[in-house]
Amino acid sequence: MSKHKLKFKLKYDLRPSDKITVNSLSITEIITNGSTYKVYGFGKIVKFGRALYLDQLSGNCRVTNNRFKEYLLSEYNLTEKEYYNIVVYGDIDYTPLCEYSKCRSPLEFLGINVNPSRSYRKYCSFSCETRHRVESGTSHMLSKNRSKYFKDHDEKAKEYGKKLYESGNHPFSDPLNTILATKLNFLANFRDKRNYSIARLYIAYTSDLFDEIKIGVTTMDLRSRANYIRDDSLPYKSIHLLYQGDITEVAELEYLIKLEFVDRRARSNSYEAFNSNLLKEILGYTRKLLRNLLESQ
Ligand SMILES: [Zn+2]
Repeated sequence: MSKHKLKFKLKYDLRPSDKITVNSLSITEIITNGSTYKVYGFGKIVKFGRALYLDQLSGNCRVTNNRFKEYLLSEYNLTEKEYYNIVVYGDIDYTPLCEYSKCRSPLEFLGINVNPSRSYRKYCSFSCETRHRVESGTSHMLSKNRSKYFKDHDEKAKEYGKKLYESGNHPFSDPLNTILATKLNFLANFRDKRNYSIARLYIAYTSDLFDEIKIGVTTMDLRSRANYIRDDSLPYKSIHLLYQGDITEVAELEYLIKLEFVDRRARSNSYEAFNSNLLKEILGYTRKLLRNLLESQ
């Protein structure tokens, strides 16, 4: 593609404030695949505002981000991936591998982004991510790291749940049937009727008066689920993915967790809300189930 064929202006001169930024960048000579490049700000992507990238091979202009691909081809005959690899890694052929030790497949390039984790995937699939997290104990939810994600909760919530439980005021007739029916309804509605194949098992902090954690399954993305208001519940305070996978497996996981903790639920009228002091046990049990699931595959 030659430059005169491009219909719109691709690039803009540097403003004085941009020049100050560029002058503060190091200049690194990169030799890769027989070619030499001078890279401004080697190791990272430099952007001006939301819409313009610095051309880090010339250091002298800003380029519209959604036409950067076109610019790189016309100016340098480089793909976005090649440019990114040169500027960030100094190796035009750089190819990261799936972090799961038993996989190590080459990973897909997602596009140029100032955030490295958005430029390349870290895993080739959700199942590799889950396997890696279970194997290494680095899951947000399944490791000691969770303290970072969950605040301590006040004694009030714990006492409230305890009182309810000890009062013996449980108007349910057969909770096991209710939990089973919930699972079957979910699968009938989302798997059978609407053809969803993937679902997410999550744990959330509710926004109710008393701090509770809630185990749930959804076919929505988690942010949408957290903000979703139903007749019986407010948006969630926070939401965390435990597992994403086959909808039948996910429904089964939720079912088994609810069964395991049914006698210790926070309120007699909910089979998915628990006091936050059960968090550690619920996560431990979930980890055990996930191990079994992954080993069985
Ligand atoms: Zn993989």
